[in-house]
Formats: sequence, C-alpha cells, structure tokens
Amino acid sequence: MRITIDKEKCIGCGSCVAVCPDFFEIGDNSKTHLKGAEPGEEREEMLVEDIGCAQEGADICPVEAIGVER
Ligand code: SF4
Repeated sequence: MRITIDKEKCIGCGSCVAVCPDFFEIGDNSKTHLKGAEPGEEREEMLVEDIGCAQEGADICPVEAIGVER
C-alpha cells in the first residue's frame, strides 16, 4: 500500500498529525512530513505493509493532500 502527500496542497493545519502521529508530523516548512519517507518539496510517498491510521489522516485532511492507495 502506498501513502502519498501533495505538499503543495498542504496548508499545515496539523489535523493528520492529531489523528495519525504514527505516519505524519509537521516538518520544518510547516507542512506535513511523512515519517520514514524521503523528504520532498512537492511530494512525498512511502510504501507500507499496514496502512494503520493513515486512512483517517487522509479522510480528515481539508484539502485532500493525502492519498492512500491499497
Ligand atoms: S491534514 Fe492535510 S492540510 Fe492539514 S497538515 Fe495534514 S496534509 Fe496538511
């Protein structure tokens, strides 16, 4: 499964971090960083075995910046 973040869409509201700190944290640029992913300016992505709480993060994001592909 793949988790993606479109960092150009992210407004740094912190909602994904609140519901899913296992995968998301606010990075230096005040936008979400995907824990364990290569830091990127425009996009980050990571393959995982267990999607865990990432779907909740995607569901709560107000700008649909988080993608979850199963
Ligand atoms: S919920 Fe969306 S807009 Fe808010 S910090 Fe997370 S990725 Fe960015």
